[in-house]
Amino acid sequence: EKMQMASAREEKILVLVRLRPLSDKEIVENEVADWECINDTTILYRNTLREGSTFPSAYTFDRVFRGDNATREVYEEGAKEAALSVVSGINSSIFAYGQTSSGKTYTMMGITEYTVADIFDYIHRHEERAFVLKFSAIEIYNEAIRDLLSTDSTPLRLLDDPEKGTVVEKATEETLKDWDHLKELLSVCEAQRRIGETSLNEKSSRSHQILRLTVESSACEFLGKENSTTLSATLNFVDLAGSERASQALSTGARLKEGSHINRSLLTLGTVIRKLSNRRQGHINYRDSKLTRLLQPALGGNARTAIICTLSPARSHVEQTRNTLLFACCAK
Ligand code: ADP
Ligand code: MG
Repeated sequence: EKMQMASAREEKILVLVRLRPLSDKEIVENEVADWECINDTTILYRNTLREGSTFPSAYTFDRVFRGDNATREVYEEGAKEAALSVVSGINSSIFAYGQTSSGKTYTMMGITEYTVADIFDYIHRHEERAFVLKFSAIEIYNEAIRDLLSTDSTPLRLLDDPEKGTVVEKATEETLKDWDHLKELLSVCEAQRRIGETSLNEKSSRSHQILRLTVESSACEFLGKENSTTLSATLNFVDLAGSERASQALSTGARLKEGSHINRSLLTLGTVIRKLSNRRQGHINYRDSKLTRLLQPALGGNARTAIICTLSPARSHVEQTRNTLLFACCAK
Protein backbone atom coordinates (compact mmCIF):
# COMPACT_ATOMS: atom_id res chain seq x y z
CA GLU A 1 0.00 0.00 0.00
CA LYS A 2 2.71 2.44 1.08
CA MET A 3 4.98 1.39 -1.76
CA GLN A 4 2.22 2.02 -4.25
CA MET A 5 1.65 5.50 -2.93
CA ALA A 6 5.33 6.28 -3.19
CA SER A 7 5.52 5.17 -6.79
CA ALA A 8 2.33 7.06 -7.62
CA ARG A 9 3.93 10.23 -6.38
CA GLU A 10 6.92 9.73 -8.64
CA GLU A 11 4.56 9.58 -11.59
CA LYS A 12 4.33 13.34 -11.54
CA ILE A 13 4.67 14.76 -15.00
CA LEU A 14 7.11 17.63 -15.35
CA VAL A 15 5.44 20.53 -17.13
CA LEU A 16 7.54 23.35 -18.51
CA VAL A 17 6.60 26.41 -20.48
CA ARG A 18 8.84 28.06 -23.05
CA LEU A 19 7.99 31.48 -24.43
CA ARG A 20 9.77 32.23 -27.70
CA PRO A 21 10.83 35.76 -28.68
CA LEU A 22 8.97 37.68 -31.38
CA SER A 23 10.42 36.76 -34.77
CA ASP A 24 12.03 39.40 -37.00
CA LYS A 25 9.04 39.10 -39.31
CA GLU A 26 6.61 39.72 -36.46
CA ILE A 27 8.61 42.74 -35.35
CA VAL A 28 8.56 44.18 -38.88
CA GLU A 29 4.80 43.66 -38.92
CA ASN A 30 4.46 45.66 -35.67
CA GLU A 31 3.36 42.64 -33.70
CA VAL A 32 3.22 43.22 -29.92
CA ALA A 33 4.43 40.79 -27.24
CA ASP A 34 1.75 40.46 -24.56
CA TRP A 35 3.31 37.71 -22.45
CA GLU A 36 6.19 37.99 -20.04
CA CYS A 37 7.93 35.60 -17.65
CA ILE A 38 8.22 37.56 -14.40
CA ASN A 39 10.37 34.91 -12.67
CA ASP A 40 11.41 31.26 -13.14
CA THR A 41 7.94 29.87 -12.50
CA THR A 42 5.35 32.47 -13.50
CA ILE A 43 4.21 33.77 -16.84
CA LEU A 44 2.03 36.86 -17.02
CA TYR A 45 -0.38 38.21 -19.59
CA ARG A 46 -0.19 41.97 -19.83
CA ASN A 47 -2.26 43.68 -22.42
CA THR A 48 -3.04 47.20 -21.37
CA LEU A 49 -5.91 47.29 -23.87
CA ARG A 50 -7.60 44.51 -21.93
CA GLU A 51 -7.04 45.82 -18.42
CA GLY A 52 -9.80 44.62 -16.14
CA SER A 53 -10.73 41.69 -18.35
CA THR A 54 -11.89 38.61 -16.50
CA PHE A 55 -9.51 35.90 -17.65
CA PRO A 56 -6.60 34.91 -15.42
CA SER A 57 -3.41 36.76 -16.14
CA ALA A 58 -0.78 34.81 -14.18
CA TYR A 59 0.09 31.13 -14.66
CA THR A 60 2.57 29.18 -12.53
CA PHE A 61 4.49 26.02 -13.51
CA ASP A 62 7.48 23.94 -12.43
CA ARG A 63 9.60 26.16 -14.62
CA VAL A 64 9.03 28.78 -17.30
CA PHE A 65 11.65 29.84 -19.85
CA ARG A 66 11.91 33.28 -21.42
CA GLY A 67 12.71 34.23 -24.99
CA ASP A 68 16.36 34.79 -24.09
CA ASN A 69 16.81 31.41 -22.39
CA ALA A 70 18.85 29.09 -24.60
CA THR A 71 17.65 25.59 -25.51
CA ARG A 72 20.66 24.33 -23.50
CA GLU A 73 19.00 25.76 -20.35
CA VAL A 74 15.64 24.19 -21.22
CA TYR A 75 17.44 20.88 -21.63
CA GLU A 76 19.55 21.10 -18.46
CA GLU A 77 16.74 22.21 -16.18
CA GLY A 78 13.75 20.66 -17.84
CA ALA A 79 14.48 17.52 -19.80
CA LYS A 80 17.89 16.13 -18.89
CA GLU A 81 16.92 14.18 -15.79
CA ALA A 82 14.00 12.42 -17.50
CA ALA A 83 15.96 11.84 -20.72
CA LEU A 84 19.07 10.37 -19.11
CA SER A 85 17.07 7.91 -17.00
CA VAL A 86 17.09 5.77 -20.16
CA VAL A 87 20.67 4.63 -19.42
CA SER A 88 19.44 3.15 -16.13
CA GLY A 89 16.69 1.17 -17.84
CA ILE A 90 13.84 3.63 -17.23
CA ASN A 91 11.57 4.56 -20.14
CA SER A 92 10.84 8.20 -20.75
CA SER A 93 9.12 10.62 -23.10
CA ILE A 94 9.83 14.26 -23.80
CA PHE A 95 7.02 16.12 -25.57
CA ALA A 96 6.78 19.46 -27.30
CA TYR A 97 3.20 20.77 -27.25
CA GLY A 98 2.05 24.06 -28.75
CA GLN A 99 0.53 25.81 -31.73
CA THR A 100 2.27 25.80 -35.10
CA SER A 101 5.20 28.27 -35.15
CA SER A 102 5.52 28.39 -31.35
CA GLY A 103 8.91 26.63 -31.33
CA LYS A 104 8.24 22.88 -30.91
CA THR A 105 10.68 21.66 -33.56
CA TYR A 106 13.31 24.24 -32.60
CA THR A 107 13.16 23.09 -28.98
CA MET A 108 12.93 19.36 -29.63
CA MET A 109 15.83 19.24 -32.10
CA GLY A 110 18.15 20.96 -29.64
CA ILE A 111 17.09 18.71 -26.79
CA THR A 112 17.56 15.57 -28.89
CA GLU A 113 21.11 16.59 -29.80
CA TYR A 114 22.09 17.51 -26.21
CA THR A 115 20.65 14.25 -24.92
CA VAL A 116 22.48 12.05 -27.40
CA ALA A 117 25.74 13.90 -26.72
CA ASP A 118 25.29 13.30 -22.97
CA ILE A 119 24.43 9.63 -23.49
CA PHE A 120 27.61 9.06 -25.51
CA ASP A 121 29.53 10.88 -22.82
CA TYR A 122 27.97 8.62 -20.17
CA ILE A 123 28.87 5.53 -22.21
CA HIS A 124 32.50 6.60 -22.46
CA ARG A 125 32.67 7.09 -18.71
CA HIS A 126 31.13 3.65 -17.98
CA GLU A 127 33.39 1.17 -19.69
CA GLU A 128 32.36 -1.55 -17.24
CA ARG A 129 29.14 -1.88 -19.23
CA ALA A 130 28.62 -2.51 -22.95
CA PHE A 131 26.00 -0.25 -24.51
CA VAL A 132 24.03 -0.45 -27.75
CA LEU A 133 22.03 2.58 -28.93
CA LYS A 134 19.33 2.14 -31.51
CA PHE A 135 17.53 4.93 -33.30
CA SER A 136 14.26 4.93 -35.20
CA ALA A 137 12.01 7.72 -36.42
CA ILE A 138 8.37 7.66 -37.41
CA GLU A 139 5.62 10.08 -38.27
CA ILE A 140 1.91 9.72 -37.47
CA TYR A 141 -0.22 11.54 -40.01
CA ASN A 142 -4.00 10.96 -40.13
CA GLU A 143 -3.49 7.95 -37.86
CA ALA A 144 -1.15 6.37 -40.44
CA ILE A 145 2.41 5.56 -39.39
CA ARG A 146 5.29 6.21 -41.75
CA ASP A 147 8.98 5.40 -41.43
CA LEU A 148 11.07 8.58 -41.59
CA LEU A 149 14.28 6.62 -42.16
CA SER A 150 12.98 4.92 -45.31
CA THR A 151 11.91 6.20 -48.71
CA ASP A 152 9.12 3.61 -48.71
CA SER A 153 5.96 5.46 -47.71
CA THR A 154 3.79 2.36 -47.14
CA PRO A 155 2.00 2.78 -43.79
CA LEU A 156 3.45 0.66 -41.01
CA ARG A 157 1.38 -1.37 -38.56
CA LEU A 158 1.50 -1.45 -34.79
CA LEU A 159 2.02 -4.90 -33.32
CA ASP A 160 1.64 -6.09 -29.75
CA ASP A 161 4.85 -7.93 -28.99
CA PRO A 162 4.64 -10.08 -25.82
CA GLU A 163 8.14 -9.02 -24.77
CA LYS A 164 8.66 -5.53 -26.13
CA GLY A 165 5.09 -4.24 -25.85
CA THR A 166 3.66 -2.26 -28.75
CA VAL A 167 6.13 -1.99 -31.62
CA VAL A 168 6.04 -0.52 -35.10
CA GLU A 169 6.32 -3.44 -37.51
CA LYS A 170 9.25 -3.12 -39.97
CA ALA A 171 10.34 0.32 -38.76
CA THR A 172 13.98 0.93 -39.69
CA GLU A 173 16.26 0.76 -36.68
CA GLU A 174 19.78 2.11 -36.99
CA THR A 175 22.54 1.35 -34.52
CA LEU A 176 23.78 4.78 -33.55
CA LYS A 177 27.56 5.05 -33.87
CA ASP A 178 28.21 8.56 -32.65
CA TRP A 179 26.83 12.07 -32.54
CA ASP A 180 27.65 12.79 -36.20
CA HIS A 181 25.68 9.69 -37.16
CA LEU A 182 22.68 11.16 -35.31
CA LYS A 183 23.03 14.41 -37.29
CA GLU A 184 23.01 12.42 -40.54
CA LEU A 185 19.90 10.49 -39.53
CA LEU A 186 18.13 13.68 -38.45
CA SER A 187 18.66 15.20 -41.86
CA VAL A 188 17.22 12.07 -43.49
CA CYS A 189 14.12 12.45 -41.28
CA GLU A 190 13.81 16.12 -42.11
CA ALA A 191 13.93 15.38 -45.85
CA GLN A 192 11.37 12.55 -45.51
CA ARG A 193 9.10 14.73 -43.44
CA ARG A 194 8.99 17.41 -46.14
CA ILE A 195 7.87 15.01 -48.88
CA GLY A 196 4.28 15.70 -49.85
CA GLU A 197 4.23 18.98 -47.98
CA THR A 198 2.57 21.55 -50.21
CA SER A 199 3.20 24.67 -48.18
CA LEU A 200 5.57 25.53 -45.39
CA ASN A 201 4.55 23.77 -42.18
CA GLU A 202 1.39 22.44 -43.82
CA LYS A 203 2.05 18.81 -42.98
CA SER A 204 4.23 19.21 -39.95
CA SER A 205 1.37 21.12 -38.34
CA ARG A 206 -0.83 18.00 -38.66
CA SER A 207 1.62 15.21 -38.01
CA HIS A 208 3.45 13.90 -34.97
CA GLN A 209 7.12 13.05 -35.21
CA ILE A 210 8.55 10.50 -32.82
CA LEU A 211 12.29 10.01 -32.57
CA ARG A 212 12.97 6.92 -30.55
CA LEU A 213 16.19 5.94 -28.85
CA THR A 214 16.57 2.46 -27.37
CA VAL A 215 19.46 1.98 -24.97
CA GLU A 216 20.53 -1.55 -24.09
CA SER A 217 23.38 -2.36 -21.78
CA SER A 218 24.98 -5.30 -20.04
CA ALA A 219 28.02 -5.77 -17.86
CA CYS A 220 31.22 -6.55 -19.73
CA GLU A 221 32.17 -10.21 -19.44
CA PHE A 222 35.53 -9.84 -17.70
CA LEU A 223 33.74 -8.47 -14.65
CA GLY A 224 32.10 -11.82 -13.95
CA LYS A 225 28.50 -12.80 -13.72
CA GLU A 226 27.41 -11.02 -10.51
CA ASN A 227 26.93 -7.84 -12.40
CA SER A 228 25.35 -9.30 -15.50
CA THR A 229 21.92 -7.65 -15.48
CA THR A 230 20.83 -6.49 -18.88
CA LEU A 231 19.02 -3.17 -19.05
CA SER A 232 16.86 -1.93 -21.89
CA ALA A 233 14.74 1.18 -22.12
CA THR A 234 13.34 3.58 -24.70
CA LEU A 235 13.36 7.33 -24.80
CA ASN A 236 10.90 9.14 -27.07
CA PHE A 237 11.28 12.66 -28.38
CA VAL A 238 7.81 13.64 -29.50
CA ASP A 239 7.28 16.70 -31.69
CA LEU A 240 3.49 16.92 -31.65
CA ALA A 241 1.11 18.21 -34.29
CA GLY A 242 0.15 21.87 -33.83
CA SER A 243 -2.14 22.15 -30.81
CA GLU A 244 -4.58 24.27 -32.82
CA ARG A 245 -5.70 20.84 -34.08
CA ALA A 246 -7.10 19.88 -30.69
CA SER A 247 -7.64 22.98 -28.64
CA GLN A 248 -11.11 23.70 -29.93
CA ALA A 249 -12.31 20.21 -29.06
CA LEU A 250 -10.57 20.29 -25.69
CA SER A 251 -12.04 23.62 -24.71
CA THR A 252 -15.59 22.67 -25.68
CA GLY A 253 -15.22 19.21 -24.14
CA ALA A 254 -16.38 17.61 -27.40
CA ARG A 255 -16.16 13.84 -27.59
CA LEU A 256 -14.05 12.25 -30.27
CA LYS A 257 -16.22 11.01 -33.13
CA GLU A 258 -15.47 8.61 -35.93
CA GLY A 259 -14.39 10.48 -39.03
CA SER A 260 -13.80 13.63 -37.07
CA HIS A 261 -11.34 16.09 -38.57
CA ILE A 262 -9.85 16.58 -35.15
CA ASN A 263 -6.47 15.01 -34.60
CA ARG A 264 -7.30 11.77 -32.78
CA SER A 265 -3.81 11.13 -31.45
CA LEU A 266 -3.45 14.63 -30.05
CA LEU A 267 -6.84 14.57 -28.38
CA THR A 268 -6.28 11.13 -26.86
CA LEU A 269 -2.87 12.16 -25.59
CA GLY A 270 -4.52 15.11 -23.83
CA THR A 271 -7.01 12.79 -22.16
CA VAL A 272 -4.32 10.31 -21.11
CA ILE A 273 -2.11 13.02 -19.66
CA ARG A 274 -4.97 14.56 -17.70
CA LYS A 275 -5.82 11.15 -16.25
CA LEU A 276 -2.20 10.48 -15.33
CA SER A 277 -1.99 13.84 -13.56
CA ASN A 278 -5.26 13.30 -11.73
CA ARG A 279 -4.28 9.97 -10.20
CA ARG A 280 -7.66 9.13 -8.75
CA GLN A 281 -9.18 8.35 -12.13
CA GLY A 282 -9.50 4.77 -13.25
CA HIS A 283 -8.98 3.26 -16.68
CA ILE A 284 -6.61 5.01 -19.06
CA ASN A 285 -7.60 4.64 -22.71
CA TYR A 286 -4.14 4.27 -24.28
CA ARG A 287 -5.59 2.16 -27.08
CA ASP A 288 -7.74 4.97 -28.52
CA SER A 289 -4.97 6.33 -30.76
CA LYS A 290 -1.78 5.25 -32.49
CA LEU A 291 0.32 7.76 -30.58
CA THR A 292 -0.82 6.70 -27.11
CA ARG A 293 -0.65 2.99 -27.97
CA LEU A 294 2.91 3.39 -29.08
CA LEU A 295 3.93 5.52 -26.12
CA GLN A 296 2.10 3.55 -23.42
CA PRO A 297 5.26 1.91 -21.98
CA ALA A 298 6.88 5.34 -21.78
CA LEU A 299 3.93 7.14 -20.16
CA GLY A 300 2.79 6.63 -16.60
CA GLY A 301 3.93 3.77 -14.36
CA ASN A 302 7.67 4.02 -13.74
CA ALA A 303 8.26 6.08 -16.86
CA ARG A 304 9.48 9.65 -16.73
CA THR A 305 7.59 12.31 -18.66
CA ALA A 306 8.40 15.94 -19.42
CA ILE A 307 6.10 18.15 -21.45
CA ILE A 308 7.49 21.34 -22.87
CA CYS A 309 4.67 23.70 -23.80
CA THR A 310 5.85 26.24 -26.34
CA LEU A 311 4.22 29.66 -26.65
CA SER A 312 4.22 32.57 -29.03
CA PRO A 313 4.22 35.94 -27.26
CA ALA A 314 2.35 37.64 -30.13
CA ARG A 315 -0.90 39.49 -29.45
CA SER A 316 -2.46 37.93 -32.54
CA HIS A 317 -1.85 34.44 -31.06
CA VAL A 318 -3.43 35.07 -27.68
CA GLU A 319 -6.26 32.54 -28.09
CA GLN A 320 -3.88 29.68 -28.88
CA THR A 321 -1.44 30.75 -26.20
CA ARG A 322 -4.22 30.61 -23.61
CA ASN A 323 -5.31 27.18 -24.88
CA THR A 324 -1.76 25.88 -24.53
CA LEU A 325 -1.54 27.25 -20.99
CA LEU A 326 -4.85 25.60 -20.10
CA PHE A 327 -3.50 22.29 -21.41
CA ALA A 328 -0.31 22.82 -19.41
CA CYS A 329 -2.32 23.53 -16.25
CA CYS A 330 -4.31 20.30 -16.73
CA ALA A 331 -1.12 18.30 -17.24
CA LYS A 332 0.78 19.37 -14.11
P1 ADP B 1 6.78 24.72 -34.60
O1 ADP B 1 7.61 23.49 -34.75
O2 ADP B 1 6.09 24.81 -33.26
O3 ADP B 1 5.83 24.94 -35.72
P2 ADP B 1 9.31 26.04 -35.04
O4 ADP B 1 10.15 25.29 -34.07
O5 ADP B 1 9.42 25.67 -36.47
O6 ADP B 1 7.77 25.99 -34.60
O7 ADP B 1 9.61 27.60 -34.81
C1 ADP B 1 9.10 28.61 -35.64
C2 ADP B 1 10.20 29.63 -35.93
O8 ADP B 1 10.58 30.31 -34.73
C3 ADP B 1 11.46 28.99 -36.47
O9 ADP B 1 12.02 29.85 -37.45
C4 ADP B 1 12.37 28.90 -35.26
O10 ADP B 1 13.73 28.94 -35.62
C5 ADP B 1 11.96 30.12 -34.45
N1 ADP B 1 12.07 29.89 -32.99
C6 ADP B 1 11.30 29.06 -32.28
N2 ADP B 1 11.60 29.10 -30.97
C7 ADP B 1 12.61 29.98 -30.84
C8 ADP B 1 13.38 30.46 -29.71
N3 ADP B 1 13.15 30.04 -28.47
N4 ADP B 1 14.34 31.37 -29.98
C9 ADP B 1 14.58 31.81 -31.22
N5 ADP B 1 13.89 31.41 -32.31
C10 ADP B 1 12.91 30.49 -32.14
MG1 MG C 1 7.48 22.00 -36.24
